[in-house]
Amino acid sequence: MNSTLRPGLYLVATPIGNLQDLSLRAHEILSNAEVIACEDTRVTGKLLSRHTIDRPMKAYHEHNAAQARPGLLKILEEGGAVALVSDAGTPAISDPGFRLVNDCIERGFDVTAAPGANAAITGLILSGLPTDRFMFAGFLPNKTTGRKKELAELASIPATLIFYESAKRLAAALEDMAEQLGDRPACVARELTKLHEEMRRGSLVELAGHYQQAGAPKGEIVIVVGPPLKAAPLSEDEIEALILARLENKSVRDAAQEIALETGLPKRQIYARALDISKGQKKGQAS
Ligand code: SAM
Repeated sequence: MNSTLRPGLYLVATPIGNLQDLSLRAHEILSNAEVIACEDTRVTGKLLSRHTIDRPMKAYHEHNAAQARPGLLKILEEGGAVALVSDAGTPAISDPGFRLVNDCIERGFDVTAAPGANAAITGLILSGLPTDRFMFAGFLPNKTTGRKKELAELASIPATLIFYESAKRLAAALEDMAEQLGDRPACVARELTKLHEEMRRGSLVELAGHYQQAGAPKGEIVIVVGPPLKAAPLSEDEIEALILARLENKSVRDAAQEIALETGLPKRQIYARALDISKGQKKGQAS
């Protein structure tokens, strides 16, 4: 091994758009690693050539991670330095990097990081939404049923939520978020650090409406959603009165959806209460 680096795995953050966003330390590590493990050699090749770095690359991605890992571990066993990068941003965030990190920790190899760009954190700090407590929720399921189920699980978490989403599913995802989380303030962060960087802020209902009308935007997206709304808490009696009024001319499902949007309370909670009340009404009518 002829690397000037200490042996071990180096998690190296790369830019999320602007190729200048590579730290001096990241440059040094990439220039001296035995091998650079990357998701797509064409994408990383472009970055390396922009920074005149010439080191061997090895593909390591979701579809070949199990086959590629032994080769990387062998280099580490022989005392080499392996740099792990993703297509963009911080490796091991929404990619198979964490498994390699885990294997290295189990085998007692040194693991260190050259931190840098990350789309979730960049979207969060630009959103203007609370940053004191947040949860990164990654990608939601593509289909609406799975997406709604996962959102329902996240609805009561008292923190700002951060999602990665594809541009083509943006409007549908925002609509499901409004339904399951309530009409919270949110921000769609698009093309971060790139020429057409855009922050669109508004309530979930407003943002869903905008993208339904405008169609899918171009580029990469982070959605940031504010914590559960803290309106003056409604008493059980007030919630019941709202439900009773809606049930006069609406189904349980529609009533729950409208009240959840209006109050910011989780739809699941309202739905369960509305179902109880509706069952009670039917029993009363039958007897
Ligand atoms: N490892 C990366 C990181 O640290 O952010 C994320 C990888 S994840 C597979 C890719 C997703 O990150 C994209 O689908 C998009 O949701 C988000 N993303 C990446 N670059 C972005 C950018 N410049 N602007 C907005 N979102 C971005």
